[in-house]
Amino acid sequence: MRWLRARTGLADRSTPVAPGSTFPVAPSALSDSAREALIAVVGAEHVLLGAAERLGRSGGMSYMDLLRHRGSGELTAPDAVLLPADPDQVQRVIECCAAHGIGVVPFGGGTSVVGGVAALRGECPAVVVLDLMRLDKLVRVDPVSRLATFQAGVVAPDAERLLLTHGLTIGHVPQSFERATIGGFAATRSSGQASAGYGRFEDMVEGVRVATPRGEWRLGVAPASAAGPDLRQLVVGSEGTFGVITEVTVRVRPVPTVRRYEGVVLDGWAAGAEAVRTLAQARVLADVTRLSDPTETEVALSLSGGWKTAAVRRYLRLRGIGEPCLLILGWEDTSAAVVKTRRAATLRALRGIRTVGLGRAAGEKWRAGRFAGPRQRDALMDLGVCVETLETATYWSSLSALREAVRDALVDSLSVAGRVPVVACHVSHAYETGASLYFTVIAPRADDDPVGQWAKAKAAACAAIGPLGTITHHHAVGVDHAPYLAAEIGTIGVDVLRAVKDTLDPDWILNPGKLI
Ligand SMILES: Cc1cc2nc3c(=O)[nH]c(=O)nc-3n(C[C@H](O)[C@H](O)[C@H](O)COP(=O)(O)OP(=O)(O)OC[C@H]3O[C@@H](n4cnc5c(N)ncnc54)[C@H](O)[C@@H]3O)c2cc1C
Repeated sequence: MRWLRARTGLADRSTPVAPGSTFPVAPSALSDSAREALIAVVGAEHVLLGAAERLGRSGGMSYMDLLRHRGSGELTAPDAVLLPADPDQVQRVIECCAAHGIGVVPFGGGTSVVGGVAALRGECPAVVVLDLMRLDKLVRVDPVSRLATFQAGVVAPDAERLLLTHGLTIGHVPQSFERATIGGFAATRSSGQASAGYGRFEDMVEGVRVATPRGEWRLGVAPASAAGPDLRQLVVGSEGTFGVITEVTVRVRPVPTVRRYEGVVLDGWAAGAEAVRTLAQARVLADVTRLSDPTETEVALSLSGGWKTAAVRRYLRLRGIGEPCLLILGWEDTSAAVVKTRRAATLRALRGIRTVGLGRAAGEKWRAGRFAGPRQRDALMDLGVCVETLETATYWSSLSALREAVRDALVDSLSVAGRVPVVACHVSHAYETGASLYFTVIAPRADDDPVGQWAKAKAAACAAIGPLGTITHHHAVGVDHAPYLAAEIGTIGVDVLRAVKDTLDPDWILNPGKLI
């Protein structure tokens, strides 16, 4: 905290989450006939109308969402929360909502950071949240083909626990792992921390079962097909606007029994990016390959605190590292020999680049703390800090320019009276042709208008991203990125998405206001 205060000039104050009872919740706008029809499908105990339940599903987990729960901005509750039991009930709920013109927001773990689960009504007189928490089953496993079919509401740790009895894993570990669901991963084209080894979630999806107002749609009969465009990929990433995913069949792999994680330090961002590009293009990326820029490395070092920080800095200085960039490398397999061979190949590819090894302790420390960031976010907000993340991706030739442009935009828009925000960046997903960039921003909060403060900064960052990269590498479009979609996919692209929506959801009841 001392380090943060020195960097950003934080003041001491406490702005905790406001109790739910302080938020006015409008009475449910569901008509009596719609409510009765929904009760007939899922049962009265699974149509939640209480203020607390509705407020609890009023949004996701972005900084703006968290601010709303602290009394800034408008918190909009849905008119009801529905808890269907299985895919058939989801289908009947969708048909019932279509008949009554009610908006439907599919809700998995609610970890969206782009407004994907905001309870927007659109043109509908009422909106319900369809919480998939009761769709929590592993439906079938095909160990020969290495396939597993899950209901959409299974949260990631449960999916791994259910597969463990079969000796299998999905290997999809985003930072939201503890809360996010299989359906949510598919709906948002999620990317996990070990994406270099296991692939992005869309690479793992073999089949989907989808409830739409037109009826149920099932896709996926073979590992590859030339039967026209891959329509599974139309559902994957559709963010609940084309249908509600009720089951997902994913590719699975044997659970790794050997894991080796370690830290390596490079001198400066350019050398770090060059190292990751070299690994990607030589096709020897570790399963986890994560490069922190100098600021993020400084944050990591400073948070480890005490004598260790000073000792590591001295150690690196003595080895000629002036601007440390931490590279975490992690390999996983069922065979120690395979891990050894792959690690050797990775390190061999780095030989021409100056590196200083920090050993396994640095890698294991990162692995142990990999889900801690979000918890620190809440604690920082309690102290009056503006703290948010955003991400993008681009080709290698534009990567450093994109990092500079986004950093400059965030620093310019969030600097107040000489107090400069911390803007840290890392690469956590690398490809032969390019990589993602993930930014973490920590700035003193503008208490007179915290919502406006971040809206301005986010708009500046998006404008900087526009000419150089994608508006989102894995957080999806939701509400927040929707204004930027046409610039990326063109008006023809938007028209194609609209045509699909018109076909599957003619009355536009599904997830109003998201994606398109
Ligand atoms: C702290 C934190 C860290 C994160 N880290 C990562 C990360 O490392 N990698 C990453 O990819 N993302 C990350 N995210 C973003 C988020 O976790 C992902 O978008 C995730 O895939 C959402 O899953 P969910 O089950 O929580 O979906 P939700 O948030 O509930 O929903 C996300 C969107 O998908 C729709 N949806 C959900 N379920 C279904 C369904 N069954 N059928 C149709 N539509 C559906 C929703 O309507 C919404 O539009 C992070 C978020 C947080 C808060």
